[in-house]
Amino acid sequence: MFDNIVGNKAAKKTLKKAVELNKVSHSYMFVGISGIGKRLIAKEFAKMLLCLDDNKYCNKCKSCLEFDSSNNPDYIYIEPDEKGSIKIDQIRNMQKEVSEKPIISSNKVCIINDADMMTVEAQNCLLKTLEEPPTYMTIVLIGTNESNFLATIKSRCTIMYFERISDEEITSFLSENFQGQTIGSNITEIADGSIAKAINLKDKTGTYEKITNIIDNLENCDIIHILKEAENLYKEKDEIFEILDYMNVLLIKKAINSSKYANCIEIIEETKKRIKSNSNYNMCIDYMLFGIWGEVNEKHSRSKI
Ligand SMILES: [Zn+2]
Repeated sequence: MFDNIVGNKAAKKTLKKAVELNKVSHSYMFVGISGIGKRLIAKEFAKMLLCLDDNKYCNKCKSCLEFDSSNNPDYIYIEPDEKGSIKIDQIRNMQKEVSEKPIISSNKVCIINDADMMTVEAQNCLLKTLEEPPTYMTIVLIGTNESNFLATIKSRCTIMYFERISDEEITSFLSENFQGQTIGSNITEIADGSIAKAINLKDKTGTYEKITNIIDNLENCDIIHILKEAENLYKEKDEIFEILDYMNVLLIKKAINSSKYANCIEIIEETKKRIKSNSNYNMCIDYMLFGIWGEVNEKHSRSKI
């Protein structure tokens, strides 16, 4: 169990031990940034709690098989609706379901993913279940932003903090699972400990190589060439914040040796703000490329004169 999940050894150990010693809490709160395995670990934990075998994770019993085919009636999974929040009705439905005894297993498990998106009404409603959970019930709340939870909810949960995945773990995970593919150390840096982000980034190495070329050649090429690169960035609107972070990683490294790159970092940060405030996207990109090229070339040559 947990064998295929990278990182967070301490959390995995704690949960495994709780199952083995039969000391599982009724309610847990898993907190940490996105993409570090909180949901995967919660699901494995649920499967373990529901397994009918004494060894608790047999992969063969009726419960394990139904869990794998998403049909286990003793397992409830809740996530935000299409509007991005978890509403009181979703919690009420869950409460109705958990009021009935488990069918296959001796336990029932409910995972609420992105539970920090619960409305206040939903949280207050959930509180009743946390205060008086049925004996067979375990509930796992997963969230990135702990401050969104009511203090009354937090006080009822065993809170577990999940850690960023180390660069080494990310690199070895990618090479083991994607036929030796690795991502460059600069990209690992912007993955920022998130395995999900790293997986997404590895599919985009072509784009990131182009970005590296732009930054590496800022000093050697004319502005026309740089603006041609803008075309590539126009197509990357969905990923632009990761790309801009990546540009900053490269620029910060260059700024250590040459101060003219330092102002470029500010230009990138300004660009993020403009894009966030819904300015014309393509114009933001043009303006940014003009700006960083200008910092590295024009001002520099002027100061030489
Ligand atoms: Zn089983």
